[in-house]
Amino acid sequence: MLTVRGLSVRYGRSVRALEGVDVEVPADGVLAVLGGNGAGKSTLLRAVSGTLALHRGAITDGEIVFDGERIDRSSPAAVVRRGIVAVPEGRQVFARMTVEENLRTGGLGARSAAARSTARDRVRELFPALAERAGQRAGLLSGGEQQMLAIGRALMSGPRLLLLDEPSLGLAPQMVGRIAAIVREIHAQGTAVVLVEQNATMALQVADHAVALEVGRVALAGAAADLAASDEVQRLYLGGHAESAEQAAAEVCAAEQQRAGRRLARWTA
Ligand code: ATP
Repeated sequence: MLTVRGLSVRYGRSVRALEGVDVEVPADGVLAVLGGNGAGKSTLLRAVSGTLALHRGAITDGEIVFDGERIDRSSPAAVVRRGIVAVPEGRQVFARMTVEENLRTGGLGARSAAARSTARDRVRELFPALAERAGQRAGLLSGGEQQMLAIGRALMSGPRLLLLDEPSLGLAPQMVGRIAAIVREIHAQGTAVVLVEQNATMALQVADHAVALEVGRVALAGAAADLAASDEVQRLYLGGHAESAEQAAAEVCAAEQQRAGRRLARWTA
């Protein structure tokens, strides 16, 4: 369904974020994209969704093909029209708008009124808690509920391929489990998913295939079950290197702090 071939991306003149990346997403499959901070995971999603220019990034080599047609020069709106919708990192809901209004904005991308109504029913079924809070301001929802709203809003346009950027970030384990179940259900209903995650345990349980990025290149690729069983993945992404749960938690905190620092540096640059 989606083929990324030899993709290289730069930000400005100097930052090479991706170098010769090859990725395949089969129709109705779930592909997990793993990797540490700065590996290039979000950049890959931005390239597919046509939003690199919004971040001062550009494709310098390679191609992205969706359903047999090149989309690497398409605008973000054209990519959505083809059926690819992204849920960016950080639960970006419209905080002052109600849950219902947030969902309606997602429905603007639907192909027809009938498609919008089908999508609306699907979102109601997947997220009953959102239906109960339809009139509430999105900014007052919990972190997990906001993540569900962001996913629900993306589903309102009836996508064929959903791009999820770290949906489990900062959520409690129980909520991570619910997000995993929802991704499985979305997949079971026939929507392909690219799941970017630092939480490799969750991602490899949900995905059929996975790639691991290291400093902008594909370091490992294969069936999710094979990668989950490999020593290298255990050591690098499944906490096999931490000597205790406390150390693993400290490493996650340090990684989140680094990420926040890098974002601040980018904003102030
Ligand atoms: P994280 O999990 O921390 O979000 P990531 O794997 O998603 O990391 P990217 O955000 O894709 O990684 O970043 C890849 C590289 O590109 C990093 O070196 C990062 O600092 C750089 N980068 C990302 N966005 C920009 C930008 N807008 N301008 C300049 N450099 C950027």
